[in-house]
Amino acid sequence: MKQVIVTAKNGIQIFSAIYLFMHIDTDGWLDTAHFISSPNYDDRPSGVNINLLVIHNISLPPDDFASNGVIDLFTNQINPQAHPYYQTLVGLEVSSHFFIRRMGTVLQFVSCNKRAWHAGISCWQGKARCNDFSIGIELEGSDTVAFTDSQYAQLIALTQCICQRYPIQDIAGHCHIAPGRKTDPGPYFEWPRYLSVLKNNNKESQ
Ligand SMILES: [Zn+2]
Repeated sequence: MKQVIVTAKNGIQIFSAIYLFMHIDTDGWLDTAHFISSPNYDDRPSGVNINLLVIHNISLPPDDFASNGVIDLFTNQINPQAHPYYQTLVGLEVSSHFFIRRMGTVLQFVSCNKRAWHAGISCWQGKARCNDFSIGIELEGSDTVAFTDSQYAQLIALTQCICQRYPIQDIAGHCHIAPGRKTDPGPYFEWPRYLSVLKNNNKESQ
């Protein structure tokens, strides 16, 4: 991430903006991400098109944004003694490609080319097993609190980056691909804010 400040000849700062430069390489890795290896992934079915982006929220313990519980979960290192809620997670093998923390830090656990285990039992437009053909982005948060400006900025930049590398056709919430079973990213996720910026950017680039 770089901050670019444009200054007029008289020295007055006339424009300041943060531009997010990100790139996903052919192996599926985001150059600006902090990489943490998860064992919870495998190969996608051969010939599959990666055409769905799934947005989630997660925090562990629930609503605690200071701990590394999510990292522990995605790396199979949850300590059931650390919190009562963790006892419900024992033996769970899950992951996501990306995790965006409250301050906007982006962590990557699985290459986008591989199948992360974030969707579970799911269906999108008649196609089951969404993990096969989707990329999962977890936002650190919950169904009861707003997400941060930094998270939206990083999510939008990451989405644009993913769309440049993969033939994404749809963006859905976990709640949309597993209705009745999942509620994330929840009522505080501002879909119009997210999608309108993407649409505007697409218009500008056309
Ligand atoms: Zn989810």
